[in-house]
Amino acid sequence: MELPNLLSHLAGIQIDRVQLVGAGVRIDAHPVAVSAACPVCGQRSTRVHSRYQRRLSDFSIGGREVLIRVTVRRFFCAASACSRKIFTERLEQVTTVYGRRTMLAAQLLESLGLALGGQVPASQRPSPCRSTAPP
Ligand SMILES: [Zn+2]
Repeated sequence: MELPNLLSHLAGIQIDRVQLVGAGVRIDAHPVAVSAACPVCGQRSTRVHSRYQRRLSDFSIGGREVLIRVTVRRFFCAASACSRKIFTERLEQVTTVYGRRTMLAAQLLESLGLALGGQVPASQRPSPCRSTAPP
């Protein structure tokens, strides 16, 4: 099996490096898109404001804990009338807006919890479209 097939749940990000760190595996990556859409107005932008790293836990590989460090960008919104001046690009194919796990890891954890007799509250089910606004 080739590495791209093994990590197909990470579509939309480019893997830069895979390292063994202690007892775990660390994957450094970045999004492949050259632009991102403002979550308020939908206007795409290529003007990068800054970058930071998001840390996502993923399912284990060979019994080793996997941490993905994705360098994401903050963009200036290209629409002058938009109320959002700066926004962070989304990793819609990989995790939720404020997710700390990949969607696959969240699904596996949910399946494990259900198999053990637990119930996952609807508000905690992984979904790329989950709103973070209070009801
Ligand atoms: Zn905007």
